[in-house]
Amino acid sequence: MSVLVVMADRVIDGTGRRPIDGGAVCIEGGRITAVGRRADVPVPDGAVVIERPGETLLPGFVDAHSHVSIIPGLGNQIGQLRERAAKAMLRAVPNVRADLLSGTTTMRVMGEEHFLDVDLKAAIAAGRVPGPRLVIATRMIAARHGHGTALTASDGPEEIRRHIRENLAAGADFIKFFATGGTSSARAAADTCFYSKEEIQLIIDEAHRDGRPAAVHAHGGPAVKLCVEAGVDTIEHGKLCTAQDFALMRRQNTWLVTNNAISFHPDGIEKGDAHTPEIMAKLNRGRANVPKMFQLLLDSGVRWALGTDSMHGLLWFEAQKAVELGATPEQALAGITRNAADAIGRLDEVGTLEPGKRGDVVGVRANPLADIAALREVGLILQDGVRVDTLSAA
Ligand SMILES: [Zn+2]
Repeated sequence: MSVLVVMADRVIDGTGRRPIDGGAVCIEGGRITAVGRRADVPVPDGAVVIERPGETLLPGFVDAHSHVSIIPGLGNQIGQLRERAAKAMLRAVPNVRADLLSGTTTMRVMGEEHFLDVDLKAAIAAGRVPGPRLVIATRMIAARHGHGTALTASDGPEEIRRHIRENLAAGADFIKFFATGGTSSARAAADTCFYSKEEIQLIIDEAHRDGRPAAVHAHGGPAVKLCVEAGVDTIEHGKLCTAQDFALMRRQNTWLVTNNAISFHPDGIEKGDAHTPEIMAKLNRGRANVPKMFQLLLDSGVRWALGTDSMHGLLWFEAQKAVELGATPEQALAGITRNAADAIGRLDEVGTLEPGKRGDVVGVRANPLADIAALREVGLILQDGVRVDTLSAA
């Protein structure tokens, strides 16, 4: 069994404990066995020791909301999902490689067609393709007349139930549905609700009956209340959420998974869909409301996490933007580590550096609690105790 001890200037274990100066992490057989000061982490016989002077060791990053086959800068994201499987997979393979090489070792995939996330998840797990460990939705559950409808539309109890059960049979780890409009399609405002109360309840119940979480794309409007009251686990985006929405989410312990890179980074929607005025109008409406919404979120005490929504390799930007919007560096870091792992139901495996967890470790070239921009400067990357930063970027 391979044994590895990594030593660096400091370790931030992600549990909320103070940083450990001169820290070390020991990994045996892919699992963390010890974390602490160098003096407290014995080096077992035969262990490989990796010295990372100048680096801070962090838990491998968790992207709580992305897709594998989408590149927002190419525009027409739903159209990208509709393309032939081979074409979509040819984008997906370099996308997930870029994610991994930016320190993302676990990623939740919020919907793909052709079950290509099932095959990519298996290929990554088998070591054939480099990428984050995937937690997958398979096909998105979306109404015919709504946003997010690629090749699969699901209306009414029979069709919704059949598609959810097909997804679960194919290997879906959770169910993702679209309750409201979105930014990246010209169709309907982002707070339009496309599903009835009964359909929303049915979707969530079908997921929960199989022991799976339900995640909903919802920006704001009546859908947020309907979904939260029906027991949804995570609200995705929430860019138009109000203080009342957050008060209800707080009471129900609902997570918000939000994202900003796709809206604010120059390679996001702005690059891909500049020629579609309806999309640009919605983008600007969301952008204008985000500072207010984020402050309401921070004031509300609602638990939140971050995701790139297909802005591959840019999870650092999400954390940096969260700090710009008022989060502390500790909160932003938790939003891509511990809280992201918790929001996607994987905190028992990843999200912190603690004995028993997977050996996912990222070294960044300074202290991100002093300057969050340090997250961009990734050095060492271990996934299940295996070095992956030595792969050259695609
Ligand atoms: Zn998405």
